[in-house]
Amino acid sequence: MTQASQKPVIVVGSGLAGLSAAYEALKAGATVRMLDRAPKPGGNSIKASSGINGAGTQYQRIAGITEDALFYDDTVRSAGQRFSSAGSSSVVDRKALVSLLTSRSCSAVDWLVEEFGIDLGVVAPLGGHSIARTHRGAKGTPGFSIVSALLKKLGDSPEFQLTNAAEVLSLITNQNGAVSGVRYTHEGETHELHGAVVFAAGGFAGDAKGLLAKYRPDLTGLPSTNDDRPGAHGILEEIGAEFVDMDSVQVHPTGFVDPKEPEARYKFLAAEALRGEGGILLSHEGKRFVNELGTRAHVSDAIMRMPRSSSENSRQWDVTLLLDPGACEAAQGHLGFYIFKGLMEKKKVKDLEPSVIQAVDDYARAVASGADTAFGRKSFGHWTLQAGEGNREAEVCIGRVTPITHFTMGGAAFNEAAQVLRMDKTPIKGLWAAGEITGGIHGDNRLGGSSLLECVVFGRVAGSQAAKAVVGV
Ligand SMILES: Cc1cc2nc3c(=O)[nH]c(=O)nc-3n(C[C@H](O)[C@H](O)[C@H](O)COP(=O)(O)OP(=O)(O)OC[C@H]3O[C@@H](n4cnc5c(N)ncnc54)[C@H](O)[C@@H]3O)c2cc1C
Repeated sequence: MTQASQKPVIVVGSGLAGLSAAYEALKAGATVRMLDRAPKPGGNSIKASSGINGAGTQYQRIAGITEDALFYDDTVRSAGQRFSSAGSSSVVDRKALVSLLTSRSCSAVDWLVEEFGIDLGVVAPLGGHSIARTHRGAKGTPGFSIVSALLKKLGDSPEFQLTNAAEVLSLITNQNGAVSGVRYTHEGETHELHGAVVFAAGGFAGDAKGLLAKYRPDLTGLPSTNDDRPGAHGILEEIGAEFVDMDSVQVHPTGFVDPKEPEARYKFLAAEALRGEGGILLSHEGKRFVNELGTRAHVSDAIMRMPRSSSENSRQWDVTLLLDPGACEAAQGHLGFYIFKGLMEKKKVKDLEPSVIQAVDDYARAVASGADTAFGRKSFGHWTLQAGEGNREAEVCIGRVTPITHFTMGGAAFNEAAQVLRMDKTPIKGLWAAGEITGGIHGDNRLGGSSLLECVVFGRVAGSQAAKAVVGV
């Protein structure tokens, strides 16, 4: 059978999961039709700002990390109760999913570098990781670099077709419940497309009035880093997919409060890398209050236990993110954008509030002594500022931050072959899924950098499996 007469792999969603799937499907000899309801490709993936995890990579070795055998353990610890208390009756095999995610992390980073020429040479520690393993490039943000490189390479293939502003409404199933295509709207018309389907439609942290309100009404009023858009989960639910961990929603501790629009619901993420490179957090009283590299949940809880700022329309807190000159230098790739957007500014130490100067000096002493006895922070990133009068002319970078809804851990139950599962654990034929739409990997809490990773690892699996179903059939 020629490619021309073969059914395509239909990829729903043009984020990193969909793009990874599309690439592998093409490599396996399939044609790919990618549909995205947004006017432009890239989804939330294009915004990713901290990086992608990889354990045992060449870049870790260059950074002096000769061994990284703890990624699985770190992931399980972060996944918490949902992982440890899941018995054999659980629809998803959490151990198998996390094993695949972590064991293929090095090859996922290599794939991006070698296949697409993406720079991922900078390695930083993020909250919850026992070692530095989150990779990004020296310039720009990782989400943009990765998504644009994949889009460019896919665009070179005549067998790849991306249609934006094309919203998938439902899946077409046959009498046995197997998926055989999608129904979608484009330019006011409804179309049917037949082929193997990879569903990579992302999460629902931006679906404030729909799925978020249904599963986590307590988060009402928090701002978000996700665009305001409904989740596509109902499309899978309609055909019998099972869902897990839907109430497990990640609140990120640091979304920028834009001084021009302090109450805006959509907020830019203050990337975790800013803390990883040496940034500290200060309360409204100008005091440190937490180990800034604790898990997101830990840091967010610490913030949300403090009194809220006086904002009437949204639930916000008044927290300062401060980077010393060493951290500013190391985070240069991010800072240019934040400063350009007016989300951070440079200030001399002498111009800070006296309580903040005190906190900076106290922390600088802790860094110099190598022990943060107050909060137990273990890694100080690139902080170089010394305590005392000698630092008053030095320039620090500061911005205001508040917790935001950021990522949804829950989603469609799936297996290591990226097949979507029913409640009885049987896979739905003709359908694969990857990325934030899926559930079972992250449990209570996703480790920073593991979402881009799941998109690559499971997107690749989904694409090659879906291709097998159409190539030569
Ligand atoms: C600001 C920000 C920073 C982040 N930083 C990091 C980071 O540094 N590292 C990390 O690992 N993770 C990070 N994340 C999380 C990570 O980016 C996302 O979880 C991940 O990229 C999701 O990828 P995806 O392909 O599953 O979905 P997305 O990239 O969100 O793509 C889904 C696409 O599906 C489309 N779609 C949805 N429904 C339909 C439909 N019915 N029909 C057609 N199309 C549809 C959407 O329009 C969208 O384009 C960050 C997230 C945000 C918001």
